[in-house]
Amino acid sequence: MDYFPVFLKITGENCLVAGGGKVALRKMQSLLRSGGRVTLVSSELCCELTTLSNENAFVWLPRQFEPNDVEGCRLVIAATDDAQVNQQISAVAHAHNIPVNVVDCPELCSFIMPAVVDRSPVVVALSSGGGSPLLTRLLKVKIENLLHPAYSRLAELAERNRRRVKAAIGDAVARRRFWEALLQGSWADMVCAGRDAEAQACLEKALCGDAGSTANTGMVYLVGAGPGDPELLTLRALRLIQEADVIVYDRLVSAGVMARARLDAEKIYAGKQRSRHSLPQNEINHLLVELACQGKRVVRLKGGDPFIFGRGGEEIETLMEQGIPFQVVPGITAASGCAAYAGIPLTHRDYAQSCLIITGHLKNGEVAELDWKRIVNPAQTLVIYMGLHGLRTICETLIRSGCSPNIPAALIQQGTTPEQRVITGELESLAQLGEQLDNNIPTLIIIGEVVSLHDRLSWFGR
Ligand code: SAH
Repeated sequence: MDYFPVFLKITGENCLVAGGGKVALRKMQSLLRSGGRVTLVSSELCCELTTLSNENAFVWLPRQFEPNDVEGCRLVIAATDDAQVNQQISAVAHAHNIPVNVVDCPELCSFIMPAVVDRSPVVVALSSGGGSPLLTRLLKVKIENLLHPAYSRLAELAERNRRRVKAAIGDAVARRRFWEALLQGSWADMVCAGRDAEAQACLEKALCGDAGSTANTGMVYLVGAGPGDPELLTLRALRLIQEADVIVYDRLVSAGVMARARLDAEKIYAGKQRSRHSLPQNEINHLLVELACQGKRVVRLKGGDPFIFGRGGEEIETLMEQGIPFQVVPGITAASGCAAYAGIPLTHRDYAQSCLIITGHLKNGEVAELDWKRIVNPAQTLVIYMGLHGLRTICETLIRSGCSPNIPAALIQQGTTPEQRVITGELESLAQLGEQLDNNIPTLIIIGEVVSLHDRLSWFGR
């Protein structure tokens, strides 16, 4: 490490900023946020600095820098647009042994300022040693996405209760376990959901020895993993995947999504391949209950959205019956993911005013009991899940029910992934096109005039 990372206390301390532009403004704002007493030396101010000056947020010396400006300062920041002045400030500060930062000039600095993710009192500081500020900024965005804004309140709540917990649990190891369970369990989730009062009440109950009221109870998160591209995970899904003790996942969950899980998280494959169920549904339901009863944070990860042909409803019914706390996190369903990545808008002013999602799963070789005559509508896009196996029967049924044999149609395989394949044709030739495809690869069928837009609008993989 080229720099020694520290967090400096500057509350009430004198700090000097030289410069009156936008860069000086940013430095000023972070000094003020940390409670510094700032003097700013510059003949001119940008308009935001003028506003702050009018609010007496800092003392303004409306002139050029003078060497004795640094006297009594805890730190100095040079942010003028004059390289010579910046150099002079650096030299004077060094001579007085005062830490100095010269913006964008690491060789003149005795300290550098990190990119900051502020969840005060939790603060993450990032630095590339001045080598690549852009990289640190990009990393900062990633970390910001990971750290729910509620971490601020979580830390405050923990701080507020620290002494009481210490008094109630004398043994240091037991105390650490107690905090670990709280901060990683459903208690922390309560705070993230803004239920601070409830969280406080749970903590108090737990301190009175009511173990059942704390994070020791497991929790099940029914999470939508989206159609394949891990970048399509919601922020919430990503956070839960990264925090899970156990992930029970099915076949549609892509390897890219699973790669986002913690290495040491337990991963249980619950399968489900067409007519080759790895774990029967009721066993999955009971597995979730059992894992939660062991006090684990369980993520039940499902392709797409858990409530769209995902049996999510059945799984949470069992949890409900058994009194296991749970949450449902929606995901991008195959229809919207595949359509977007194939350049096929599901609705379009000129072609389709509605969109219908149906299952094409056959029961005993027959298409589902759907009102096919009502399904057929030239101004509506029809999206069929699980329809490849029964494609011929579906197409024949549609045409028999009045659908035009020439309506455009598409088959999308492994949508949103690098392996995505889009095959387009007309309804009457679709079954033949589908015959070349592997039945075990997830395939979505889109039928409707909007498919004709694919040639023009397709963008992914080009
Ligand atoms: N809950 C899921 C759907 C589960 S049913 C969701 O909301 O997307 C399984 C069917 O979804 C598959 O047979 C296929 O028709 C469709 N599907 C899911 N992911 C897909 C993908 N990446 N590409 C194409 N079809 C997909």
